Amino acid sequence: MQILHPFVGSVQQYAEQLADPDCYRPGHCPQCHTKHPLIAHGFYTRTLVDTAFDGIIRVRRYLCQACQRTVSLLPEFVLPYLRCSLTVIALFLIARLLGGQTIEGAARSAPPPMPYQRGQFWVRRFRVQAEALCAALSALTQPAPAPNFVHRALAMLESTGWIAAHRFLLDGLRCHLLGWPRSQAPDGRRAAFSTTAAPA
Ligand SMILES: [Zn+2]
Repeated sequence: MQILHPFVGSVQQYAEQLADPDCYRPGHCPQCHTKHPLIAHGFYTRTLVDTAFDGIIRVRRYLCQACQRTVSLLPEFVLPYLRCSLTVIALFLIARLLGGQTIEGAARSAPPPMPYQRGQFWVRRFRVQAEALCAALSALTQPAPAPNFVHRALAMLESTGWIAAHRFLLDGLRCHLLGWPRSQAPDGRRAAFSTTAAPA
């Protein structure tokens, strides 16, 4: 299970404070809800592309001794299973879907520039999620008048803050901002979250 690391700061600052396992050790298990603190259980590595970073980061894992399951503490600037940071994805989606840039133009001007196909993939996923995002985020912010769900979801993400929205969706609702990959739907929630989604 992946939960969000409560740390706020840059990629560099995140890497520096990872050495101390007590720093953000979860006080209870989010899966079986046992009250015993979890024990440090190493790291896994993943790639990350951020506006000023392209490399590998470590993600700390903890183990629950009661249920023997692991919990990963994902930094809040990344989305599970996606290589680019939330900031990079947000800048691209805004340029393409609110700014009216072409996918090629938004991909070229995105910091950092990236392959066209990656942006196309995010746009497709976002369109599928938009209506469900509007419904979920209405708990945090007033739905804005907008011509369609895509524009409304973007406006709501901008007013909430993308990271605050991501935290609410993942930790609160176990929802992925761009939808879970098919193989990774947690507890069947992806299906429940997608039933009201508009076609791509
Ligand atoms: Zn447990």
